[in-house]
Amino acid sequence: MLNIFSAPGRYIQGADATAYLPKELKRLGVDGSALIVTSATPRQQLETLWHQSFQQQGLNIEIFDFGGEASFEETAKISRRAQESQVSVIIGVGGGKVLDTARASADKLNLPVVCCPTTAASDAPCSTVSVIYTPQGVFESCLFSRRNPDLVIVDTSIILKAPLRGLVAGMGDALATFFEADACYRAGKMNILGGSSTLCARMIAQLCYATLLKDGITALKDAQAGVLSPSFDRIVEANTLMSGLGFESGGLALAHSLHNGLTAMTETHVFMHGEKVAFGALVQIILEARDENILSAVLTFCCSVGLPITLSDIGLPSLTQEQANKIAQLTLAPHESAHNEPFALTAGQVTDAIYRADACGQAFKSSYASAGT
Ligand SMILES: [Zn+2]
Repeated sequence: MLNIFSAPGRYIQGADATAYLPKELKRLGVDGSALIVTSATPRQQLETLWHQSFQQQGLNIEIFDFGGEASFEETAKISRRAQESQVSVIIGVGGGKVLDTARASADKLNLPVVCCPTTAASDAPCSTVSVIYTPQGVFESCLFSRRNPDLVIVDTSIILKAPLRGLVAGMGDALATFFEADACYRAGKMNILGGSSTLCARMIAQLCYATLLKDGITALKDAQAGVLSPSFDRIVEANTLMSGLGFESGGLALAHSLHNGLTAMTETHVFMHGEKVAFGALVQIILEARDENILSAVLTFCCSVGLPITLSDIGLPSLTQEQANKIAQLTLAPHESAHNEPFALTAGQVTDAIYRADACGQAFKSSYASAGT
């Protein structure tokens, strides 16, 4: 099997980075018009700046108001508008669904795509994958674009204004990155790109985990205080760049499959992707019988930043055996990345690990509370 690694063409992160967008487009060779796909809040925050800065570079913009769902219907609308206006680039500015739809539309037309996330809630911005839903919001499929975004611009001044829960959920998504990439490597399984992981991808996944443990709590406190600090900056990079490269070029394993299984429970729908993935990571660590020190570090980290470690934390305080079994069956569906674990799994083992993770989380919470931390 070949080693395969992929990444966005260029990644730029920093305070007020949006101002550099038109200049970067020129550098990419873009001229004429750009289509910006965005939602209400970023439009309100950035529209004046877009008009000014694009005009300075002699570029025109058209703005497409995102309809709310990353569906094939929405992708078709954006592609039609891009063709009618003969734009030479599509730029997504917003959350994961906006970026996914912009990426899928650009791929359809073979146009360059730029992703400008306005929250650090997931590892989607740097990747090739778009998650497509029906217009009613039910998962439909994963679309793989031919290339990673040509440019990713992460404006930390904008990310700082986003709800804190997104930053924490992004840390949950990033927490699973090392454990999943490591499982794939140990099992000799493929990454998302259909190859083996490189040393580089493995190191990025390790650095992602180390950065979370070192800077996660401080970054959250700084964000609560509205301070753009070095820790905040590093966590935005861990959630967006390291986790993005780590999952795509390192591979996924049980944590994300368990997340997918959990989505069958309507009670979990109010929880963010990264929150459910964090619980998935805990289940994976239990199943792999990882070292006690690792388990304790993960539980401490999750508890400190407010990531789920019990079934109650993800809306399932009284999960029945039947429900747990359903989650386990879905976790082990043939297409799922749970099969990238270095050993074969049965539904019974997954069910058992879900309850053991919950018990571990509950015990940890009571000791954490009695320690008064
Ligand atoms: Zn994820």
